[in-house]
Amino acid sequence: MAVAATGDYDDSNIFARILRGEIPSKRVHEDDWAIAFHDINPQAPVHVLVIPRGRWRSWADFSAGGSDAEIAGFVRAVGTVARALGLEAPGYRLLANAGLDAHQEVPHLHVHLFGGKPLGPMLVR
Ligand code: AMP
Repeated sequence: MAVAATGDYDDSNIFARILRGEIPSKRVHEDDWAIAFHDINPQAPVHVLVIPRGRWRSWADFSAGGSDAEIAGFVRAVGTVARALGLEAPGYRLLANAGLDAHQEVPHLHVHLFGGKPLGPMLVR
């Protein structure tokens, strides 16, 4: 079910539980600002989710309310993960669904990182 991009943060969402270690995940990276783990239902040979440690629901509230350090730390973490996975040379795609039209399903900001094959056009045509 899709969720709105804005609203109260729900501490019971699945990524909050992954952050707290209550639910297992296949982590590929963690630092002060972000963690990254494999998507449970991969849509490409490499499909990793990068999420900030902070309680942000989507790009909407993060971009408006995140501190400069938090935003910089998160953006750098996304690049670090792509580099560590060897995706810079072949290339990769980033995607962040925000809200209803984008069909965001989990109300904790996440950037999808796809790679490992030619990914084709950006959106279904
Ligand atoms: P979105 O539609 O952008 O909100 O994407 C949510 C993503 O979270 C989907 O690609 C799901 O496959 C993924 N997902 C849901 N639950 C888990 C989980 N427990 N571990 C890893 N990925 C998950």
